Order: sequence, then C-alpha cells, then structure tokens
Amino acid sequence: MSGEFDLIRRYFTWPAHNAVLGVGDDAALLQPSPGQQLVVSADMLVAGRHFFADTDPVRLGHKALAVNLSDMAAMGATPRWATLSLALPEVDEDWLCGFSQGFRALAEQHAVSLIGGDTTCGPLNLSIQIMGEVPPSQALRRDGAQAGDDLWVSGTLGDAAFALQSLLGKVRLTPAEASMLCLRLEQPQPRLALGTALRGLASAALDVSDGLAGDLRHLAHRSGLQAVVEVTTVPVSEVVQVLSPHPLYWQCVLAGGDDYELCFTAVPQHREALSALSLQLGLPLTRIGYMQAGNGVQWLEGGQPVDWELQGFDHFA
Ligand code: ADP
Ligand code: MG
Repeated sequence: MSGEFDLIRRYFTWPAHNAVLGVGDDAALLQPSPGQQLVVSADMLVAGRHFFADTDPVRLGHKALAVNLSDMAAMGATPRWATLSLALPEVDEDWLCGFSQGFRALAEQHAVSLIGGDTTCGPLNLSIQIMGEVPPSQALRRDGAQAGDDLWVSGTLGDAAFALQSLLGKVRLTPAEASMLCLRLEQPQPRLALGTALRGLASAALDVSDGLAGDLRHLAHRSGLQAVVEVTTVPVSEVVQVLSPHPLYWQCVLAGGDDYELCFTAVPQHREALSALSLQLGLPLTRIGYMQAGNGVQWLEGGQPVDWELQGFDHFA
C-alpha cells in the first residue's frame, strides 16, 4: 500500500524532456518555443459515462491522452505538455501500473511531457489538460470555412460506435471484427501528423469526437454556413460496410461519436495536394460534401435531400 506521494512518484513521474521543471514542485515551469502560440485544451473522462469502469487500464491510459491529443491535431498544433488529474476510488496497483503504461507510451510516442497534475480519492475520473504550440495565425479553427469549400474527413467513421453496440449486445460480430472495432473505440490514434500537415491547406477543422452530425453543426455554425454531406460518400471500414442493413447504421456512422478523425474544409484547388497528403500519410482522406450559404447540416442520399434528425452526443440532452 502506498501513499499519495509515493503513488505519484511511482506511476506518474518520469523525465520531462520538454520542461524546465516537471512533476514534484508546486507548479511546473515551461519554456514555450520563441514566436509560437500556446494552444490549450482539457478533456475529462468519467467512469460509467465515457468508459466502462472495467476497461483495460493500459487502453484507458492511452485513450485518456489520445482524446486530448486529438484536440491538438484538430487545431493543427504540436502537443508538448500534459497535466493529469486523477480521482481514484482506491489504490489499485495493477490498475495504476497499466494506466500509467498506456499513458506514458502514447506520451513518449509524441514527445509529450507529463509535467504535473493532482491525485485525489473519489469516483474514478480522469482529467487531462494538454498544451501545445502552433505558429501564429496557422491554427486550424472552426470559423474559417468559406462557401464553395470542399468538406473532407479522415479515416473511417462509425467503428467506435458499432464497437459500443457490440459491447452492449445490440449487434453481432465475429470475434475478429469485434476486436478490430474495439481497438478503434479503446485505442484511438490522434491524427497529429494530419493536423500539422493541414496548416495552410484547410480553411477550418475540428475533430469528430461526438459524432459527425453534432460536430459538423459546430463547424457550420462558427463559419456562418451550411454543410452539405452526401452520406453515401462517408468513409466506413470494411467491417462497418457489411453492417449497412443494420437499423442503427446511419446513427452509428453519422452520429455515433468517439471516432477521433479530423473533419475539415479546403478550397477545391487543394484537392490534388490533399490526395498526395493522403498517400504520404497512409491515411484515407475523403471528400464528403461542401459548404454553402445557409446554416446547419443538409444530408443528401444519392443527391436527394433527406430529412434526418441526427443528433451528436450531448451529455445534457
Ligand atoms: P500541491 O499540494 O502543491 O498542489 P500535490 O501534492 O498535489 O501538490 O502534487 C505534488 C506534485 O505532484 C506536483 O508537482 C503535482 O503537479 C504532481 N502530481 C500530482 N498528481 C499527479 C498526477 N496524477 N500526475 C502527474 N503529476 C502529478
Ligand atoms: Mg503546493
């Protein structure tokens, strides 16, 4: 059994390469790169709401950081520092060891230093603050889309939502399919290389965390435009493709959440550059529609407007 400080030392202290002073003092000291803007975001994961309490702790450590890194990717930022605030119902050494391992592996992969946090006793809650950098006026914001811009999305949508349906017993998958989709739910890969590469190419961007329907509405609103989406062009994985007759298909693909792909707009002149970028990154980039005057999201199926009331995830709805 270890106390609070022993626990912080054992599981959440490792060399912070990017910091002047990391874990262990009253506060950390950071030296931002000269001329860069600081980009800051926070995300909280609550047991029973964002994840099942019995989720593999290694994957949970990864995911808690990944969802924060995804916000940096969406801003076109390079992540540099993170803080971790934990409420733990008890000291479970195996859990802490796994969580710390998953968190640290992803942090080191992206050269992000854990520079502090807080540890307290309470219902399981993981709060991370992420800090990164971006050159002035190059951040990818939600409000930059122009009428006539193409609308793009990375990777595939709906995998995580169908993984959740499978865990809830609402869709039947083979063990191989289930584990492939669960990997997408539990170990999302933040699209950081894409985010920085989109500087100067994308006019607006956000990450798809609450489902395309809900998130796209934010981008449209902030840009003062309407997003038009041809639903048959929305990219899905082979596993999800096969599920297309399922009654929850469009709900999962367009409004399921937990995708952590990037959705962005760009002028049509950038189509070739974006195809080349897709090849270079080994990541599908798919044109799913365009922006026009108006508001909200207009869904088209085979060119015909469809009146779908798709809601993104909203904790208070
Ligand atoms: P204080 O009481 O001054 O707020 P704490 O005793 O809470 O400081 O924390 C001691 C040090 O450990 C601080 O540097 C703090 O940032 C760090 N720390 C606490 N919890 C965590 C955690 N879960 N992960 C990383 N660092 C942590
Ligand atoms: Mg103090």
